[in-house]
Formats: sequence, C-alpha cells, structure tokens
Amino acid sequence: MKIEVDQHRLISEIEALASISDAEAPAVTRIVFTPTDLKARTWLKARCEEAGLAVRQDPIGNTFARCSGSDLTLPPVGTGSHIDAIPNAGKYDGVVGVLGGLEAIRALQRSGFRPRHSIELLVFTAEEPTRFGIGCLGSRMLSGALSADAARQLKDSEGVSLDDVRERAGVSGELEAVKLPSGYYSAFVELHIEQGPRLEGQGIPLGVVTSIAAPASLRISIEGSGGHAGGVLMPDRRDALCAAAELILAIENAARNSGAIDTVATVGICEVFPGAVNSIPSRVRLSADIRDTDLERRDDVMQQIETATQAISVERRVPIRTEVLNADAPADCAPAVVEAISESCGKHHLKFVPIVSRAYHDSLFMSRIAPTGMLFIPCRNGYSHRPDEYASPEDISRGTLVLAETLAALSR
Ligand SMILES: [Zn+2]
Repeated sequence: MKIEVDQHRLISEIEALASISDAEAPAVTRIVFTPTDLKARTWLKARCEEAGLAVRQDPIGNTFARCSGSDLTLPPVGTGSHIDAIPNAGKYDGVVGVLGGLEAIRALQRSGFRPRHSIELLVFTAEEPTRFGIGCLGSRMLSGALSADAARQLKDSEGVSLDDVRERAGVSGELEAVKLPSGYYSAFVELHIEQGPRLEGQGIPLGVVTSIAAPASLRISIEGSGGHAGGVLMPDRRDALCAAAELILAIENAARNSGAIDTVATVGICEVFPGAVNSIPSRVRLSADIRDTDLERRDDVMQQIETATQAISVERRVPIRTEVLNADAPADCAPAVVEAISESCGKHHLKFVPIVSRAYHDSLFMSRIAPTGMLFIPCRNGYSHRPDEYASPEDISRGTLVLAETLAALSR
C-alpha cells in the first residue's frame, strides 16, 4: 500500500475554506452558527460527499462523514477537529485536522486500502469559546461532559439561548441525543498545529502528544460604585477597575509562583463600565483562563485566586462574583494510539518527539469515550489565534501522511 497525499489539493482547500470568513484575508473569523460558519459547513459537507463519505449531523451540529469499513459490526475509528475560528484568527487551527483528516481518508481510498473498521471524520461544533463562553461545546456534549440540560442554560454574548441559536441555524433535534456511548469509537486521532514553538525550535517535523493540559476558565464580575471623576473624593471611592487591577496581578502571581513551568494563567477580557473618561468605573467584567498539566496544582492556583478575590473584595469594599465556567481534568493519551502514531512516523522515516498539548482540544473530551491520541505539526514562531498563523504545505502534508498511516493501522 502506497499512501500519497495530494498536497496541492489539500492546500487549495485550506485556502478555499479560509476565504469563507467574516474578517479580511489573511485573517479568518468564523464564529459558530453565523451565516459564515453555516456557509463553511455546507462547503465542507460537499467536499465530504464528493469523496463518497456518508454525512450526518447531530443536534448540536457536530458533523460526521463516514467511510465504511468491510466489517460494519466493528466500532469506527474517528479523526477530525474544528473549523470555527476566533475573531481575527488564522487559517490552520482546527482546519488542518479537518481537511487533513479528509485528505487522509481520500489518500487511503486512492491507495486501494480497504479498512475493516469504518473511518469517520468528525467536525466538532464550537471548539472555540467565543460565542457561548465555553470551549469544545460539541465534543463536551458528545462525551457527556456537558449535559443537555446544562447546554440549554447556555446563552451567547447577546443573551440568545443555545436552543434559539440552533433553531435559527437550522440545526434541530433533541440535545439528549448528542452524547455517544463509551466504546462508540475504537480510537480517535486528531491532527493539529502545535500552537507553540517547540517543534519548530527543535527542527522536528512531528510531535506525538502524550497528555493534554487541564483548562479552567472563570468569569469574574466586580461591582464598584460609579460617580463623577471630579466629584467623588478618593476616600469615598469603590473603584471597580482598581480592584480588577489588583486581581489581575494576583492571578498572574498565582501562576508564576506555582513552582512549575506548566502552570499558566491569563486574563484576556477586561470590560469596564461605563467606560467614560470622566466617570469612575462602576463595574468590571474579567475572564481568567488557568491551565496546568497537573490537576492538583491547577486547582491550587484556583484556590489562591479565590483567596485573593475575597481579600480584595473586603479591602476595597466591592462585591466580586466569580463563576467557574469550566474546570476540566487533564487527559492522558491512550498508549495504543500513541504507539500507532509513533510507528506510523517511523514507517515513513520521520522524526518525532513526545509532546504535551498545552492548548486544549476536542481530543480532551474524546479521550473520555475513546482511546485518543494527537499528532502535532510545527507552526511558524508558535503563533496561533492570529492572522499570521502559518504551517508550511510540507509540514501539513507530512502530518496528513502520518495521520493516514495511523488511521490505516487502527482500522485494520
Ligand atoms: Zn484548535
């Protein structure tokens, strides 16, 4: 069996998908269930059908495109990623795993390989938290980590419920039907850009992921007291932004002082109300994102943030409300899948390193219902979630080749 990746076609498909965007090129913005996202989904389904795959969609909009195996009693092998993109993102995050997954299946078809297990391409809904404030919406629900009831409580940034957003997007069905039973897939593999600088820095073309860091995110609202910037004197102030400033630094310190390089914490959103030059900030909304490969250490950082929050609240006389949006456990990749990926690299004489995924991915949740592994390719300067995100055609097709080889090994 000789697997050949059609690099030219794959790259032109990545470009075509990138052109379906709400931002001007080279930036890509594709928020879940916007007209642009729906257009991209339609385009992608057509590519899957062209390849002879059977396409279905579940009630949260996760899309499944199946290449049937010779033994339909066996659980399928899954691969895939996401096509939604945060505002002003690049072309490759998620997309490489989706279009690379599709090309891997086509390459296997062209090679004459006939899998025993079916191979299924998955396109997960809303890996990015942009619209609903929670990442991996589709895979979270597939794995049962987010219940249908909890999902129904979600509202987008405009306050529209998930059910209403779904309905407007023409995605229907009972959310209870999204969860897949454990054992539904015999294995799951996701190809992704590294989103970090290590592979490029070491000059190694492939990373075989061994574990995925545990993410948590908080929504914090600080209620101060507004007033005229000239009229209210300093002793009388309860400035929400000054309290926020202290808290932001406390969050940074909690991560810096964890004693481990793997601990990171970020405040990425700071909204100030009323946001006028001569008005004391009355209310601030912050987001905090905390991650670690070690759950205990991550939770310890969260505890320190909670302690700091209470102290600042008392000291500055401002109520602070913290909502934990998610606090997920890390995932270890399945040894059998890690081995299959590593052997596939070896088969093509490609160097690889074991690597930790510091970003979370749909694989974090797939690992709860299926033996899961991930394959990373380098991206320039480690940049991601920005318009100049870049992975070379050679790296993308190498990753796709190893993915195809891995899918073949797992579906025999
Ligand atoms: Zn991604």
